[in-house]
Amino acid sequence: MSASIVTNSESRDLLRMERVGAHSHIRGLGLDDALEPRASSQGMVGQLKARKAAGVIVRMIEAGKIAGRAVLIAGPPSTGKTAIAMGMAQGLGTDVPFTMLASSEIFSLEMSKTEALTQAFRRSIGVRIKEETELIEGEVVEIQVDRSMTGSSKTGKLTIKTTDMETIYDLGNKMIDALNKEKVMAGDVITIDKASGRITRLGRSFTRARDYDAMGSDVKFVQCPEGELQKRKEVVHTVSLHEIDVINSRTQGFLALFSGDTGEIKAEVRDQINTKVSEWREEGKADIVPGVLFIDEVHMLDIECFSFLNRALEDDMAPVVVMATNRGVTNIRGTKYKSPHGIPVDLLDRLLIISTVPYSEDEISKILAIRCQEEDVEMTDEAKDLLTRIGVETSLRYAIHLITAANLVARKRKATAVDVQDIKRVYMLFLDEKRSVQAMKDYQDQYMF
Ligand code: ATP
Repeated sequence: MSASIVTNSESRDLLRMERVGAHSHIRGLGLDDALEPRASSQGMVGQLKARKAAGVIVRMIEAGKIAGRAVLIAGPPSTGKTAIAMGMAQGLGTDVPFTMLASSEIFSLEMSKTEALTQAFRRSIGVRIKEETELIEGEVVEIQVDRSMTGSSKTGKLTIKTTDMETIYDLGNKMIDALNKEKVMAGDVITIDKASGRITRLGRSFTRARDYDAMGSDVKFVQCPEGELQKRKEVVHTVSLHEIDVINSRTQGFLALFSGDTGEIKAEVRDQINTKVSEWREEGKADIVPGVLFIDEVHMLDIECFSFLNRALEDDMAPVVVMATNRGVTNIRGTKYKSPHGIPVDLLDRLLIISTVPYSEDEISKILAIRCQEEDVEMTDEAKDLLTRIGVETSLRYAIHLITAANLVARKRKATAVDVQDIKRVYMLFLDEKRSVQAMKDYQDQYMF
């Protein structure tokens, strides 16, 4: 049992921000303490089985039990595969790397496919480096508590918004006492009142900083701590293996991290880094934090990439690979063979598969309402009904896209709320997939071949 104080430094992969606009309403998987999905929570609606399965995987990742495994989220277009992956990312601690990769990004001229995949893998492995320093009065600190229980190690986090050292130690110790008394469980969020030291258990749904802030309390604690608070400060930085590679690559230098143009990294550099990191691990100076690599449109990968994945997953520093596809039985790129989801059967055999199913009308309507709120768009009930019908008949994504466009049209006519006429207008302006195919058929002879 140990506890340490860490500065509130976050290492976030830039890629994590990618495509965030479309999923900005997703704040987590919307599960309760027992991992049961709530009908609508944290921006998530429906897709109950898939969300629960994703929650189990997040737990396994947290318990460090699933590194090097792979998960496939398979289902028709617009059924929330990416949304679920984003929900998983939110459920993981802030220093657990989450990297997103669209399979087509692999095919670039600047680097080989395997180099691009290796970089994506190494971006998804965090190295938590510990350094001991003195606490400086006035610093905002986070107290991190680890405990080992029945073999699984859990990490807790406590953010104290105070600058006073005595208060920090005092609260940390109170927290530990109180947790022992209150039987707070791993994954719980609690608050501690600074004056009284009283603990309030809030369940597990407060996973975003802004929720914590809204509670206005002095101390926020995520997950169960146990043990003693040590009167020393351990500064912990989490960087990815890829960042260490780039910084140590003589041809690239750390500035490449900002431009994102890292080029190929030599195998010897990676070998040296691996050796160094193992040394740090042995000396207790660093831990490996296996993160998540999300590979979207995985059917776009080819046979060479799949065999790379098969091998890379065996590595003891592999992240959890979560893939998504909306394809059924299709060609495996680079071969003349067909396979479910275009994935070779030997890889398929290693995957935990989560499937997503089409949404009901009611679920579509709820998701659209959430998106309207997220985009700050007022919409009349009639317009919402029409948009829901469009969503049912075309696709959820198409209906979501019409929200912003319809809002612009409504504003142009100086209306405060989007009405049926605005939806009709944008429905005529922008074709959905079915009508676009029809238009192509109608005017086929005028297109180029
Ligand atoms: P594709 O196969 O086309 O890539 P997908 O299954 O990854 O699609 P998403 O991109 O996740 O689908 O979903 C489309 C849109 O609907 C996104 O804006 C997403 O955030 C939203 N969405 C999907 N499912 C849900 C859900 N269960 N709750 C809330 N929002 C959702």
